[in-house]
Amino acid sequence: MRSVSIFGATGSIGESAFDLLIRSGGAEAWRTVALTGGRNVARLAEMARALRAEIAVIADETLLPDLRAALAGSGVQAAAGAQAVAEAADRPADWSLSAIVGAAGLAPGLRVVERGGTLALANKESLVTAGRLLMGHAARTGATILPVDSEHSAVFQCLDSENLDRVELVTLTASGGAFRDWPLERLAAATVAEASTHPNWAMGQRITIDSASMFNKALEVIEAHEFFGLPSERIAVLVHPESIVHALVSYADGGTLAHLGPPDMRHAIGHALHWPRREKLPLPPLDLARQGSLTFREPCAARWPALSLARQVIAQGGAAGAVLNAAKEQALDDFIAGRIRFTDMAGAVAHALDRAAGQAGFGRSPGSLAEVLAWDETARRDAAGWRAAA
Ligand code: NAD
Ligand code: MG
Repeated sequence: MRSVSIFGATGSIGESAFDLLIRSGGAEAWRTVALTGGRNVARLAEMARALRAEIAVIADETLLPDLRAALAGSGVQAAAGAQAVAEAADRPADWSLSAIVGAAGLAPGLRVVERGGTLALANKESLVTAGRLLMGHAARTGATILPVDSEHSAVFQCLDSENLDRVELVTLTASGGAFRDWPLERLAAATVAEASTHPNWAMGQRITIDSASMFNKALEVIEAHEFFGLPSERIAVLVHPESIVHALVSYADGGTLAHLGPPDMRHAIGHALHWPRREKLPLPPLDLARQGSLTFREPCAARWPALSLARQVIAQGGAAGAVLNAAKEQALDDFIAGRIRFTDMAGAVAHALDRAAGQAGFGRSPGSLAEVLAWDETARRDAAGWRAAA
């Protein structure tokens, strides 16, 4: 029996992974080590009971009594707090899914890699904030990192190991999000509710808004750079409103391989879960005749300034990824809370990057979790202070 752990089990990715485990035999087929959640005690306890997990961890420390009560008599251990979430990653499991949202996902993922485990990585923020650190640890310990972000899973599936050095271009597609076809002058007045709807994918609220701003794709360009080791100019972004082609890999001989599939994260999660084998997954077949047409267009730089910030971050290297991610998280909090406009987010992030670039050590990649968190903290402060500074 293979053993699994899910960090961020109660989120959108976590629920999809849970669905796959339940549909493929549940507790009879999988040994579940740890499940973690942020605040949703009832759902976490329900999942832990269904999969007969060893331990369930809730990130919010104040919720420990509630979790204990919800798990009473189940035989599942209860724990709480950020430290307990990270420690759960030390428990040996054959496969660990990193599906916490934001920089909070880095700590457990790093620990899985430090013990040489297999990390299925949905939390793109880990690679953006600490790509060197994570990949360096993996190289040292022999850990396996499998991409779960749909585009990166698609690239991974299109790579031909015999000819890796012949890859000329990797293209990540982007749906364009909620405001793809809005007149540019309307964007400043976009509401949180409008930004929180996605044309094709059902995802958590934060990544949905990041899709509308293209910060999601900005993170993904950096993620591709860190994970596949490609320079910025060999990573392209193409707007593809139908979200059927997830990525393309172009080779030096003129051949381009594309990965197609329905916009359902259970494909990428299931691919990583069963890798290197392909198992039957509960997904509708692709029906291209019904789809009719697939369209593509160049991303508009004026609509999505986040994309050029990603290029800037790759050029800067060092701590720039940690700064961009944290500033983006702060700007997103500020937008959701109504403190800044949708179109202000890029300005706040650019400001934080400018401030950080003047600080000692910015050019050096963070060498520890503590260093990442130190950059994270100043970047959040700088992004929050952007209004005052502007
Ligand atoms: P979500 O908001 O639906 O779920 C996030 C999970 O993390 C929840 O279990 C939540 O309780 C937990 N969490 C939140 N803050 C936490 C904290 N401080 N400490 C511990 N746990 C915390 O998010 P999601 O859409 O499932 O995305 C998860 C990750 O996967 C993100 O990094 C996202 O970028 C990535 N991703 C998501 C999708 C998607 O389709 N949803 C696609 C590709 C990549
Ligand atoms: Mg993606």
